[in-house]
Amino acid sequence: MSDDGALVLFSGGQDSTTCLAWALERFSRVETLGFDYNQRHRVELDRRAILREAMAGMNPAWLRRLGRDHTIALDALGKVSETALTRSTEIALEAGGLPNTFVPGRNIIFLTFAAALAYRRSLGHIVGGMCETDYSGYPDCRDDTIKALQVALNLGMDRRFVLHTPLMWIDKAETWTMAQDLGGRPLVDLIVEDTHTCYLGTRGERHAWGYGCGTCPACELRAKGHAKFVAEAA
Ligand code: ZN
Repeated sequence: MSDDGALVLFSGGQDSTTCLAWALERFSRVETLGFDYNQRHRVELDRRAILREAMAGMNPAWLRRLGRDHTIALDALGKVSETALTRSTEIALEAGGLPNTFVPGRNIIFLTFAAALAYRRSLGHIVGGMCETDYSGYPDCRDDTIKALQVALNLGMDRRFVLHTPLMWIDKAETWTMAQDLGGRPLVDLIVEDTHTCYLGTRGERHAWGYGCGTCPACELRAKGHAKFVAEAA
C-alpha cells in the first residue's frame, strides 16, 4: 500500500473502470480525472459519477480511499477531433478500424494534463488503461510511448511520477478477469451495466457484455473479450 496517492484517467469505460479498481486496491488516496472534448464522449462521461458512487459502495476501503473527481474541458482537442464533422462527413470507421474522429497522439495530451494536475494535487502515481494487446491502431497506447512520456514528464516537471498501465499486456478477456479478481461479481456486473465503450456513443441494446451498437470495433472487442471470459469461467 502506497501513501503516495494516485490519479486515475477515468473515462467511464470498461478499461478505466478496471484501472480505478486496481488503483483503489493499491493506493491510500485515489483521485479521478475525465476529459470533456466532444459530444461523442458525453455518454461515457455521464457514466463516471454513477460508477464512482457504486464502487465506493462496494468496499469500505475503496470508499475511504476514493477522493476527488476532476474534469478538464479540452475544447481544442474537440476541434481537432471534429474535423470529420466540419468536412460534413459522417462519423465513420477508417481502414485501420479507428473512427475518423480519432485524434493522433491523444493519450500524450491526456497524460500531460494528468501530470500537471497530479503535480498540483501532490499525487505521485498516474494510472491509465492504455493497452498494446488489443489496440493495434493506437501508437500512443504503446508501452514505449508511455515510458518515453514518463521520462519527458519527470524531466519537464522535476518530479518522480510513476505511470502505471495495468492493462498494457493483457487482452479484453483478461481485463474482465482482472475486474473479477479485484471486485468479484458486483464489479463485473457494474462494468456490464454501467460502463460505456461504444465508439458511436449509443447505449442501444443490452447485450450480455453491456450496452452499445454491437458492430463498431470497440463493441466487437468488448463482446469478444466477454465471451472468452465467460467461456473460461464456465
Ligand atoms: Zn459500438
